[in-house]
Amino acid sequence: MRGYRAGVGVRKVDFLLIGGGLASANCARWLRESGSEGEILLVGREGDPPYNRPDCSKDYLRGEEPREDAYFRPVEWWAEQNIETLMRTSVSEVDLSERTAKLSNKDEVEFDKALFATGANVRRLTVDGCELEQIHYLRTLGNADAIRDGLADAERVVMIGGSFIGCEVAASLTKVGKHCTIVMQEQVTFERSFGADAGRFFHQLLEEHGVIIHPRDELERFEGDGSVRRVITRGGLELDTEGVVIGAGVTPDVALAQRAGLTIGDRGGVRCSSRLESSVPGIYAAGDICEYESVIHRGEFVRIEHWDVAFNHGKTVALNMLGKDQPHEEVPYFYSVLADWGELEYVGPAYDWDEEIVRGSLDDRSFTDWYLKDGVVKAAITFARSDDLDHARRLIKSAHKLSDDERAALADVDADLGAIVP
Ligand SMILES: Cc1cc2nc3c(=O)[nH]c(=O)nc-3n(C[C@H](O)[C@H](O)[C@H](O)COP(=O)(O)OP(=O)(O)OC[C@H]3O[C@@H](n4cnc5c(N)ncnc54)[C@H](O)[C@@H]3O)c2cc1C
Repeated sequence: MRGYRAGVGVRKVDFLLIGGGLASANCARWLRESGSEGEILLVGREGDPPYNRPDCSKDYLRGEEPREDAYFRPVEWWAEQNIETLMRTSVSEVDLSERTAKLSNKDEVEFDKALFATGANVRRLTVDGCELEQIHYLRTLGNADAIRDGLADAERVVMIGGSFIGCEVAASLTKVGKHCTIVMQEQVTFERSFGADAGRFFHQLLEEHGVIIHPRDELERFEGDGSVRRVITRGGLELDTEGVVIGAGVTPDVALAQRAGLTIGDRGGVRCSSRLESSVPGIYAAGDICEYESVIHRGEFVRIEHWDVAFNHGKTVALNMLGKDQPHEEVPYFYSVLADWGELEYVGPAYDWDEEIVRGSLDDRSFTDWYLKDGVVKAAITFARSDDLDHARRLIKSAHKLSDDERAALADVDADLGAIVP
């Protein structure tokens, strides 16, 4: 039901959710699950209803998953929950003192509480030849369609970037029969997130499956004849190709929030309290754009671009919109999947660390790498040792400084980590 203020051409809703991604979707869900009967309007720029973005580089990209299976909820669920979704629509302006928003369809909406969850934009590389066809970025289901269709007949594809997008796409495209090459600045894949040891493990896993990796190099330009035909690197490589996928990171899309006057933090996100409330009461941020004071990280401000974080933020915001005064206490978690070759899981994040302890064995493909700072566990990555994750969460939350014996236990697969009870 659409609510209009009597005599004024302005719609009125209780909750305006800006952005059609996971953070907004889960916020809408938890508003209803927590018993709210208020009017909810979710506005999203994309054509699809909210969906699980990670599928774009995995099953969906390989054509192994129907589009609808990536959706957060079936299409009819939104109406059943009496949640209005306006897709293919942008929020263009927000006036926080009047509590009104202008939409690209010319609607004006008055709201009581609002969530900014506008996600992130891919970082575009402007080098010579960047306008050639079959040079792709990957953020949306539409981008995944373009890669699948555009590279259907391609034999060779070059990935620029050796982190999540570059590695996952290289794995997926290799699995569907393409010859994939990665060009990256780092010495080993995932180096910036996980360091050299764990990074090397995934690097070798990719190479074993035929992915060619050129480390310590970077893109100089593209050459082609309308379509890209060659990647030229600063290091002097000339790589023949029929397609390119660039995974060069993302930047949080805070433009709307900034124009509305919300405070932007040092990590480039919307500055929020531990309740995910922005500098303006009743206005929240979640997901990739949310830079919040983390209870887990002892008051440090963190901003994390991962699926599970967006999902959990949505719930915390819903509870706080309903007055529950709920700090965000989840230890951030994420996963990454390299085709069916393996899945990594991580809790943290550790922005810097001074010690790594490996439990298990990288050679045996079953390990947890613990990241410590001053003797305190800050993060952990696991491969085929998911059971360690709960211990990692507990240790991260506790900020417990480990003794030498406890540090030795972290490395010992037979030790009972439950005995380290801070
Ligand atoms: C290919 C890919 C694979 C990934 N794989 C993983 C993974 O394996 N594991 C993991 O943990 N994370 C993964 N991620 C990251 C994860 O998907 C994101 O962290 C998560 O989707 C962020 O959710 P969000 O709701 O904050 O933003 P988004 O999902 O980006 O949603 C924001 C939405 O808001 C829309 N929007 C922006 N501005 C406006 C406006 N003014 N008006 C209306 N709508 C607007 C955007 O168009 C977008 O649809 C992956 C990301 C990508 C791109």
